[in-house]
Amino acid sequence: MTTKSPSASPEFSVREFFQRFPDDDACLAHIMQVRFGGTRFECASCGKESTHHKLAARRTFVCANCGHHVNPTANTILHDTRTPLVSWFYAMYLFCTTRHGVSGKELQRQLGVTYKTAYRIGQQIRVLTSKAQGFDALLAGHVELDEAYVGGRRSGGKRGRGAPGKTIVMGLAERDGRMKAVVIPDVKKDTLRNVVLDNVEPGSVVSTDELVSYNLLAGDGFTHGAVKHGKKEYAHYDHRSGETFHVNTVEGFWRLFKASVRSTHVQISAKHMQRYLDEFTFRASNRGRVNGMFDLLVGAL
Ligand SMILES: [Zn+2]
Repeated sequence: MTTKSPSASPEFSVREFFQRFPDDDACLAHIMQVRFGGTRFECASCGKESTHHKLAARRTFVCANCGHHVNPTANTILHDTRTPLVSWFYAMYLFCTTRHGVSGKELQRQLGVTYKTAYRIGQQIRVLTSKAQGFDALLAGHVELDEAYVGGRRSGGKRGRGAPGKTIVMGLAERDGRMKAVVIPDVKKDTLRNVVLDNVEPGSVVSTDELVSYNLLAGDGFTHGAVKHGKKEYAHYDHRSGETFHVNTVEGFWRLFKASVRSTHVQISAKHMQRYLDEFTFRASNRGRVNGMFDLLVGAL
């Protein structure tokens, strides 16, 4: 059910990072490894299995047989960058290891670049976290759903559902598995139903709060249970299905997300919300696999 990552070492320290990637050549070699399986592969031009040598002072490798050029950063966000590849790699590393996310200010400090550059790098890595998740597969098994109201003004005015500038988001989590979160326009019946139909495999077990009505999902072939938060119920065991219905995983995710946004990002507009959601679900889906997460990002370049 869970997508396995290429490598799954639980630890990847900062020290280890700089040992593995001391300079841009090391980064290039790693991109070659992830994209082509190394420097020996079938040449796209001559068709021979041949070794590719790196050209000095350039981001280019050359086929030993026919001289065909391979640029491992072609068609990636790294192609025209003037920022050293090590800085990009270190920024990706921070995105994999920092639970609360990485703000533009933090990247500016850590990479020694301007705020504008740091912000741009951060946004582009968020796009990578979205690509790296490759959400073609529907969530399955027991899936929790819970909505939240995020962003908007920090203080003053109304709080909660009706507060101005808030974005409505829906979180979906497989028990002990992958996570996904999407921006939704409202919490009308059809909207909620479509979120489930678009993202969850039919026949799955679905936990929600009381916002989603029973017969809505049962009619679509889901086994659905709801916790009645209004009645201070936080989990309930269903004897007929043998399932325990609760949305604690997603609630925990929203708590972390909201606290992180408050402490590091100050304000996120509705327009940019999906990128931040992708960043956080990427980490949540790959908990404890920093190496694997890092290579997923490199692979998504
Ligand atoms: Zn060749």
